[in-house]
Amino acid sequence: MTHRKIKDQKDYIDLVNELIEHDKHYYKEAKPIISDYDYDLLIKELQAFEKKNPTLIHPNSPSLRIGEALTKGFKHFSHLTPMMSLANTYSKDELKDFIKRIYKLLEKEDVKFCTELKMDGTAISIRYEKGHLTQALTRGNGKTGDDVTLNIKTIKTLPLKLHSSEKNIPDLIEVRGEVFIHKNIFKKLNEKREEDGLDVFANPRNAAAGSLKLLDPKEVAKRHLDVICYSIANAENFVSSQFEMHNYLKEFGLPISSQKHFNLCKNLDDILSFANKIEKTREKLSFEIDGIVIKVDDIKAHKSLGFTGKSPRYAVAYKFAAEQAITTIKDITIQIGRTGILTPVAELEPTFVAGSTISRATLHNLDEIQRKDIRITDTVIIEKGGDVIPKVVSVDFSKRKKGAKKFEMPKKCPICLFDVENVKGEVAYRCTNLNCKGQNLRRLIYFAAKNAMDIEHLGIKVMQTLVERGFVSKPSDIYLLNEEMLSELEGFKEKSIKNLLDSIKKSKKCTFSRFIMALGIKYVGSESADLLANFSKDIKKLQKLTTEELINIEGIGDIAADSIVEYFEDQNNLDEIEKLLSLGVSPQKPKETKKDHLFFSKIFVLTGSLEHFTRDEAKKLIKERGGKTSSSVSKNTDYVLVGSEPGSKFEKAKKLGIKTLTEEEFSAML
Ligand SMILES: [Zn+2]
Repeated sequence: MTHRKIKDQKDYIDLVNELIEHDKHYYKEAKPIISDYDYDLLIKELQAFEKKNPTLIHPNSPSLRIGEALTKGFKHFSHLTPMMSLANTYSKDELKDFIKRIYKLLEKEDVKFCTELKMDGTAISIRYEKGHLTQALTRGNGKTGDDVTLNIKTIKTLPLKLHSSEKNIPDLIEVRGEVFIHKNIFKKLNEKREEDGLDVFANPRNAAAGSLKLLDPKEVAKRHLDVICYSIANAENFVSSQFEMHNYLKEFGLPISSQKHFNLCKNLDDILSFANKIEKTREKLSFEIDGIVIKVDDIKAHKSLGFTGKSPRYAVAYKFAAEQAITTIKDITIQIGRTGILTPVAELEPTFVAGSTISRATLHNLDEIQRKDIRITDTVIIEKGGDVIPKVVSVDFSKRKKGAKKFEMPKKCPICLFDVENVKGEVAYRCTNLNCKGQNLRRLIYFAAKNAMDIEHLGIKVMQTLVERGFVSKPSDIYLLNEEMLSELEGFKEKSIKNLLDSIKKSKKCTFSRFIMALGIKYVGSESADLLANFSKDIKKLQKLTTEELINIEGIGDIAADSIVEYFEDQNNLDEIEKLLSLGVSPQKPKETKKDHLFFSKIFVLTGSLEHFTRDEAKKLIKERGGKTSSSVSKNTDYVLVGSEPGSKFEKAKKLGIKTLTEEEFSAML
């Protein structure tokens, strides 16, 4: 554990600097290098020293500020009331102290507490004016936040317009909540990032925070963020109890925590039993939590309890420790990716964490190893939670063996022995040999993988054998395999031969999109492959698309477009594609959309905010039915879908005499 004692002012300043560095990794780069648990311990250590030595407090001390700094590229606006961060604890005793303090301050012991999940996401403040979502701000520095309104609007569970039932909608209400990403989506997101050769997110929270700070809402929409609301600025003007608050928010159609995830507690025992119950079901939740939040239920008491520095006194977060284990690093090996990137991997003494045995953990890159000073034979703490990839959190330096050498990136590729180079402007190292066997093996595995050609019985081991035996060196060789060749392989019996040949044959009729995936074009993942397939319909046509034409496909960016053009400029690639086709691989054209649908080939323009769909949802529905969407109204527009508070597009449509649709009419046509 990085737990340590501050002895003097120098230690203190060192810790301040270290924490500032951690904050930078955490908030600016969304890539923390220590666990939250360790971070919290360091902050506590810092606070303890500052309490004893108030005259020495450094003006930049992380304890003095709340949350993240503001990000460039966003406009900043003030919060109606400051967004505080909660004090937190891992200890039952401190929880007990919290309750005692409340009793003392309120001068009574008959106090109810509302307990809720502590979502492991990023805080958001959402403003509704006359029922319409007008602004969403991040916590920022607590007083001012980044305007992420457009990004927040991509969250499908969040109403753009408050539902009104019996309740009158307030003129202005600022709802507070937490933006998060579901575990399964997080998993897919990281898989895709790996596929595209990008850094993976350390955990769902960083993925949510990072996504919210993307400058392109279209990209944000792809992250499928979600939100849970749990509070209101100036809550006392709206409700009298925190427990009631949930239902109050729910009536407006705002997403709140499930009923079983908040509770009214009378005392410490009640709170602890709620905490235990939640911790037990934690694994089964579709999202990550890192503890529970305990709030005084009586909202009026919140104001009278006041604040301490950066946190309100009426609430505390009781956090669950992350699932960690101690083990040793037996070795650090290098894995070569299909694009030649060298990834260091820690080979661990197998150990059991969070329901599974862990024997390997990615060390990401050299930078990461140097930052944490990880060496072979070190005793380390590893952490795993939910679907998160196991990681090495920190080294126990007190157990370091004498002579443990610093890790160095190999100068030569361990597989082909060609030179390794540092990728310009990145932390990555790459094998420079285009014909590297290591890279080639990865490319072949990628070709046969589930989301590409999906050749069922051709996994890593079989592929490795086929390559070693000299039977396969490029994808088309797979389609030349026959019974005779396979019978030469060790362990291959009649049945396994038949299975493999059958699955190879079956893969010939792949979808066009999977075929594109299988080519392994850099920056083309499954989503881009879908877009390219639907647009070009045919490999010959795809090969001829220019950069401009590619960029014009919605969802294809500059980098991907360049990479696609570059790929098809290489004669070797064209030859290989030709060979695959001549061996019977026949990518199936994407299904034509039904031509008899009312939307077919019609051009839609959307204006105003819709009640039942987000814009992206509406666009998707139109596209699925063969229609198109455009951002501006012209003579060619067939329909303008008009939501509430429509813009100038509505005026223009009326002027040009273009048919307008209400949301109800649109739904009926669907
Ligand atoms: Zn190599």
